Amino acid sequence: MNLLDFDLDALTAWCETLGEKRFRAVQLFRWIHQKGARDFDQMSDLAKSLRAKLQGVAEIRPLPIASEQASADGTIKWLFDVGAGNAVEAVFIPEDDRGTLCISSQAGCAVGCRFCSTGHQGFSRNLTTGEILAQLWQAEHHLRQRLSVPAGERVITNVVMMGMGEPLQNYAALVPALKVMLDDHGYGLSRRRVTVSTSGVVPMIERLKADVPVALAVSLHAPDDALRDQLVPLNRKYPLRELFEACASYLEAAPRDFITFEYCMLDGVNDSPEQARQLIALVQGKAGAPRVPCKLNLIPFNPFPASGLHRSPRERVLAFAQVLQDAGIVTTIRKTRGDDIAAACGQLAGEVQDRTRAAERLTRPEVKVVRVHPAGPSAA
Ligand code: SF4
Repeated sequence: MNLLDFDLDALTAWCETLGEKRFRAVQLFRWIHQKGARDFDQMSDLAKSLRAKLQGVAEIRPLPIASEQASADGTIKWLFDVGAGNAVEAVFIPEDDRGTLCISSQAGCAVGCRFCSTGHQGFSRNLTTGEILAQLWQAEHHLRQRLSVPAGERVITNVVMMGMGEPLQNYAALVPALKVMLDDHGYGLSRRRVTVSTSGVVPMIERLKADVPVALAVSLHAPDDALRDQLVPLNRKYPLRELFEACASYLEAAPRDFITFEYCMLDGVNDSPEQARQLIALVQGKAGAPRVPCKLNLIPFNPFPASGLHRSPRERVLAFAQVLQDAGIVTTIRKTRGDDIAAACGQLAGEVQDRTRAAERLTRPEVKVVRVHPAGPSAA
């Protein structure tokens, strides 16, 4: 039994099958997540008899690290081997006032967003709760040792489910992992500091609201359905009106009073001033969908050869941001971090044994992107 697969309630239930009380499960949980212990013999306040029992039936299973790369800007990227030729990535991004860990939820991704290198690799399988949490467990305790962080101080202050995969398409494994992140006996992160990023799996947004309403980021990338259908194929199933209804409803339980919309800036595709104005109308509830209080996060595209897309020039991003800001919408432009180790947003690629023929699908000529810049509508 891999104990990283359990949130505290599940660990308690499992300990009860061994004849142990809840407080023993709490002790065990704290040893694992707060102290990073892997060896039951280290767990000095557990009875020897329990330690012996655990040795025979349980383990805390780390993921083999295939590689670790450190960027000149302090960003660290790990490639974790999850078996059968698949590997997933996690990235630690240190900033002055926080340390953010971006982790993966799936080996590959079935959504197939046009601008995302993970999407182009296709999909192999969902990660287990233990595999999602192992990325945090290993990064946290590795960094604590490496940076000699005193007990009681945090290294990882924020977790974002923004690595490889669509977390809401791996819901059953995601929810216990989020609970461990929030648990005071686990990582003790507040709901505001744990973010799930989704491409818009509407029914699961509703469930997340009920089960564990952490901060929500939505990959938007287009101001209308026609373009979003091309960039984020899931939009054909859950169009903007439904997505915005789900977002407005989510805010009733969210830890923040806004949704973060991610918007990847693609040269000549979604970056014109007119599209910025369409975006304003959309989020302000003037385009047929409900109003959603939001922050816009503009992301410089990180090109990769198979995408056929290009990064918007800096001045175009600034002009786009200005139109949004002039309308009173809080807008940030994401700093690219870890460029030199391909750790920036949208660059996580890992290794995926694709079971979905994504590369073939995504390069079919009929997949078209409407260009509205610079010479009016045409096709990319
Ligand atoms: S952007 Fe997210 S949802 Fe879209 S293909 Fe990439 S990993 Fe999947």
